[in-house]
Amino acid sequence: MFAINHAATALVLKRQYPTVRMAFILLAVQAVELLWVALNLIGVETTTIDATVRSVQNIHLVHMPWSHSIATTLVFAVVAWALIRFALGKPKTAIAVALGMASHLLLDLVTHSPDIAIAPGFAMQKLGTGFYGSVPFLAFLLELGFGIACWRIYRGSRWLLLAIIGFNVANLSMFLPQLVGIEAALAGRPTTLTLVILAQIVITLATVGWLSRSRKTTMRKAFPARASQARV
Ligand SMILES: [Zn+2]
Repeated sequence: MFAINHAATALVLKRQYPTVRMAFILLAVQAVELLWVALNLIGVETTTIDATVRSVQNIHLVHMPWSHSIATTLVFAVVAWALIRFALGKPKTAIAVALGMASHLLLDLVTHSPDIAIAPGFAMQKLGTGFYGSVPFLAFLLELGFGIACWRIYRGSRWLLLAIIGFNVANLSMFLPQLVGIEAALAGRPTTLTLVILAQIVITLATVGWLSRSRKTTMRKAFPARASQARV
């Protein structure tokens, strides 16, 4: 799933756990991708790109067993939960962060080509619906609809909705080979792709975090006691 919709997932968790700091939730939903960026930059994980890039189908996440596998994600989520729950004494933050980390892989499984391993060393069978390749426009609508649904659940501002729609529409050429976008400049440049994705992660997390603040202010006024609970 693209960065904006991973970021939008944080809205659902924030709605469910209103006393947990949004910054923790935002980092959690993209922790897996930030690890992917770091591991690609140091050469532990591998991405290849075709000589011509017309859509996301020309980008191949060939080796990412540490950042994107069922087993490692579960381990990371459980370890994060245990550390935050027992070392920091914040049970709700622990659950929100663990769910955020797990949500990332779940959403990638719903859209990715089969490129997600069960565990490092078990690369024989990889998982993913393949929607990006088989039904790209449906995948786009699915991502857009998911982002809007997250906004609706959160009951965010109009600016937040516009941002979610805008970032999704900006990705449209990544889904449709007929549309030429900036992805054409990524041909044969996996490091550039990794840095572009890092920029997308940072920009979309910052945007969703910033534009979700207006509701937070309203909620504090409406539920001052609930918003000021100490143990979160
Ligand atoms: Zn991912």
